[in-house]
Amino acid sequence: MLPLEPLDIAGTFAPTYAVARARFKDAARAAGGTLDAHVHDSHRGPDGGEIAIDVARFGPEKAETVFMAICGTHGLEGYCGSPVLIDWMRTGGAKRLPKGVGALLVHAINPWGFAHNSRTTESNVDLNRNFVDHEGGKRPENAGYATLHDAICPAEWSDASRAAYERAALATAKEKGEGFLIDSLFRGQYAHPDGVFYGGTKREWSNRKLEEICGTHLKHARRVGVLDWHTGIGKPGEPVILTFNTAGDGLYEQVCSWWGKDFVDAGLFVKGVPRPRYTGLVFQGVQQFAKHAQVAGAVIEFGTKVERMDTFHALRLDVWLKFKAPKGDPRRAAFETEVREAFSLSDPGWQRMVLGQARLLHEQMVQGLGRWR
Ligand SMILES: [Zn+2]
Repeated sequence: MLPLEPLDIAGTFAPTYAVARARFKDAARAAGGTLDAHVHDSHRGPDGGEIAIDVARFGPEKAETVFMAICGTHGLEGYCGSPVLIDWMRTGGAKRLPKGVGALLVHAINPWGFAHNSRTTESNVDLNRNFVDHEGGKRPENAGYATLHDAICPAEWSDASRAAYERAALATAKEKGEGFLIDSLFRGQYAHPDGVFYGGTKREWSNRKLEEICGTHLKHARRVGVLDWHTGIGKPGEPVILTFNTAGDGLYEQVCSWWGKDFVDAGLFVKGVPRPRYTGLVFQGVQQFAKHAQVAGAVIEFGTKVERMDTFHALRLDVWLKFKAPKGDPRRAAFETEVREAFSLSDPGWQRMVLGQARLLHEQMVQGLGRWR
């Protein structure tokens, strides 16, 4: 069942968001999909062009089971997720959908971040921490992050400030444990708008659009399989599955039936400690917006060239460039490349690994969805 077409690296991995978007739309049309664009109402790309969430729909309109694949939740990670979706369409993915299964591909759920080479939205919000109850005013606390914030986001970007951050992180790990440190850093925080993993104080534009997309395209669905493509965790070019269904329940077992239990279970731990208690995930957004349906699924991460803490270093740099970099800093262009390369490598060898494995992971999930009753 796996498509045998050669991997078209140059034709899928795009140099800019605008090129990625055009290719996504072309591929969707050529594959017979229905397209739907949600154009950003207040922001544009760095070239002045329109930015949008594009949605491609395939299969029966009232499908009871829907394969929902998303890319660009973390903006620039879309440079890796977009090719994966394009490849699926170009290699006949829609034709291989099992009977009764529809596909919903969401391109650039965070189009500002994708277009502007950032992990966050236009408001420095980590979209994958934004789906919490803002109106209720009960945003999760993260005291561990608060103590580290100044070291994470220094005024100056230098070897000395990096070393100071590393000393602060090490001291926290020594005093409270590695698990506490990782949880504090990555879980999400709601008190430092110029920090990393900031979940915001209101629903982002992309958050509201996701609700509209779910309202339109999932209203007949009884079973939804969500696959959100990311990068930055794991060994270079290798996939890591992070499922957010509850370990051991029926939906978790459903996810295991697609990719294998050992592989799914391995994603419950990062570096030997339990995964952070992430809050406000896109996956949780889909659960809220499609309450009538069972929602199973995962984030799939592809590891990049660097270790986890170095990916974290790139995130700090992303935020520093936004808030602290002096005007005309001669290092800006090199730093921007560093941030992009930390999340989507330009190395064709890495790109081939990603695309080839993503084909298999897509196919395993889609065929698994055909068996879900
Ligand atoms: Zn990500």
